[in-house]
Amino acid sequence: MIPLAKPEMGDDEIALVAETIRSGWITQGPRVAEFENAFASRVGAAHAVAVANCTAALHLALVAAGIGPGDEVIVTPHSFIATSNPILYCGARPVFADIDPATLNMCPVKAAAAIGPRTRAIIAVHQVGRPADLKRLAELASQKGLMLIEDAACATGSSFLGKPIGGNDYSPMVCFSFHPRKIISTGDGGMITTGDPDLARRLRILRQQGMSVNDLERHQSKTVVSEDYPVVGYNYRLTDVQAAIGLGQLRRLDGIISRRREIAARYDAALGGFPGVGIFAEPADCRWNQQTYLIRLNGATAGTRDQFMQRLLEEGIATRRGIMSIHREACYLERFGAQSFPESESASDQCVCLPLYTQMGDADIDRVSASVRKHAPLP
Ligand SMILES: *Cc1c(COP(=O)(O)O)cnc(C)c1O
Repeated sequence: MIPLAKPEMGDDEIALVAETIRSGWITQGPRVAEFENAFASRVGAAHAVAVANCTAALHLALVAAGIGPGDEVIVTPHSFIATSNPILYCGARPVFADIDPATLNMCPVKAAAAIGPRTRAIIAVHQVGRPADLKRLAELASQKGLMLIEDAACATGSSFLGKPIGGNDYSPMVCFSFHPRKIISTGDGGMITTGDPDLARRLRILRQQGMSVNDLERHQSKTVVSEDYPVVGYNYRLTDVQAAIGLGQLRRLDGIISRRREIAARYDAALGGFPGVGIFAEPADCRWNQQTYLIRLNGATAGTRDQFMQRLLEEGIATRRGIMSIHREACYLERFGAQSFPESESASDQCVCLPLYTQMGDADIDRVSASVRKHAPLP
């Protein structure tokens, strides 16, 4: 059986976790600080704030941006539901702008058309780690006086026009995920990078119950410290045990990405130009970490796409549906009624994720490619 994904982790991470447990400090503390510093320097950010997951990262970014009831946030419908749920947590309204089918990322022209008098922010997703057009989206945000927030859940290690995603060259807050399906993992985990020391301070307070002093500072202080609570915060901490895993994972990041890119290139060579199968190219002057290898079955409906996936499963190959269309889910339908974003919907119906993990051998890639060619429905 060829699985869809498999995290790459081993003795380094095990040793770092053991060391952390023996240290006697297991929740947010010195390891989290070390992981934040290592992550910030890897992506060229001034500050990195670790949190429990990327959903929490997006929620805190919106809270720190002052988003609340009555506000609207422009977002793509073509993403994991965690991209837009945090807008609802803030009592604000997600306003969807359809994608460009060539990139599966939000179309800047459609984003511009969705802006209204209540719009306060834009969330740009780097879908499957493939950089969105940050230049145009940042120009749009600055022209209209909106906050741009990046959902870089899948984009650790990708870069846009030579700048690493997370370096805050185009937006003040970039949110990452360390779920096992992403590029590097801490089990669950997230990070927000920012170039603004004020935002960093606010995010740190918000992630720990709005407390003015964190646990470690209180623990290390030579005098009695009583904290106060200037704002209502959340418990969105990452633990030192998770950060220890993250430190081991960061050391592997370059190797993970280069192997993922080799695998994607081998798929591209086998499937590019094959009738009925569309592949996604790396945008010019960008580096794509290949977080997910998607194909588009141009001749498929949702039904024939499922049959294709079933055939592959019978041949021992796991696949998943492509990216969902958030507006079609019941919890959005009941709030906002039926909405239509045809590019997102047809991409959701026709795309399939193929297996991609660093331990995958060339023979596995060739076996998957042969099955795809055998079973892809023709247009
Ligand atoms: C995975 C994912 C998230 C959520 O990340 P978690 O760390 O699981 O909360 C958000 N947005 C996108 C685009 C994702 O792929």
